Parts: sequence; C-alpha cells; structure tokens
Amino acid sequence: MSLNTPQNMLVAATTDWLVRHWVKDRHHVAAGVLTSRGTHFGLHLDTSGCDFCAEPVAIANALQSDDLTLRDIVAVFWDGDPSNPPCVIPPCGDCRQLLVEYAPDIHVIIPEGDDLAAVSASDLLPYPYAQTPRKVSVHDIKVRDDIAGEMYRLRNSDPH
Ligand SMILES: [Zn+2]
Repeated sequence: MSLNTPQNMLVAATTDWLVRHWVKDRHHVAAGVLTSRGTHFGLHLDTSGCDFCAEPVAIANALQSDDLTLRDIVAVFWDGDPSNPPCVIPPCGDCRQLLVEYAPDIHVIIPEGDDLAAVSASDLLPYPYAQTPRKVSVHDIKVRDDIAGEMYRLRNSDPH
C-alpha cells in the first residue's frame, strides 16, 4: 500500500528530526509515531554494551503523553555522511513483537523496492511469540509414548 499524505509527512518529519539530533556513535536511527493527536519521536540509543531501538522510545513518548491511538510509525537511519541521504528501515524482530502487542493495527512504513509502503504490524509478524502457547494434548503424549516404545524396541532388538 503506497503512503498517504500524513504518512509522507511523517517520513519527512522523522528524517528532519534525525538529522537535527544525529550524534556519532550514539543516535543513528530515529522513529516517528503519528497518533490521533500529533507526532512523537524517539532516538535509537547506542552504547558499548547494548542498543535500544528508536521505535519503543517513540511509542513510550506517545503513551506517556496519554496519546493512545497509534496510527503510523516509521524508522529512519542515517550514517551522518552528507553524501548519503537518510533512509527508511524496517523494524527489527524485537520491535515487530512490540508493535504487534502494543498496536497490532498500526501502519508500519517500510522500504519496498525503490519505494515505501505501509503495512500492518500483524502483517510484518503473522506468528508472534505468545506466553500462552497451545498445551500438549493427551494425543501428543500418546504419540510420543508410541515413538519411545518403538525406539526402545529397536535399540534392544538383535540386528542379525
Ligand atoms: Zn528494533
């Protein structure tokens, strides 16, 4: 799905925000979240021990402003070289899980070929991690007993 006007404006505003806040070895990615009431930004935090993505920072900024309707999100990377323009990047796996849990209907702006597209968080991660996975049924256990019994029989049988 191609971008609508607010989404294009979000990409432009996030890119501008990153260029103004970019710091070598500290902030190379910015995320922008468009909500029902406005735009919130977040910076990627780079340390020598671990990194924190820009998307959760931007979402936290929106949520702490009691702005709960998250409509669109984008992350922009820039290496700081004026000859290389900033570029939209897709969310990492952890951020995809975060987006599915906090805003499954949010539109995530991602690169698609030479263009940009907006897809739902659920489309980016159709099978998210769940804390309540399907329990193993009695049937599954019986199958495992059958397999274990067959393995025991084979192990103890005379090969000749
Ligand atoms: Zn991430």
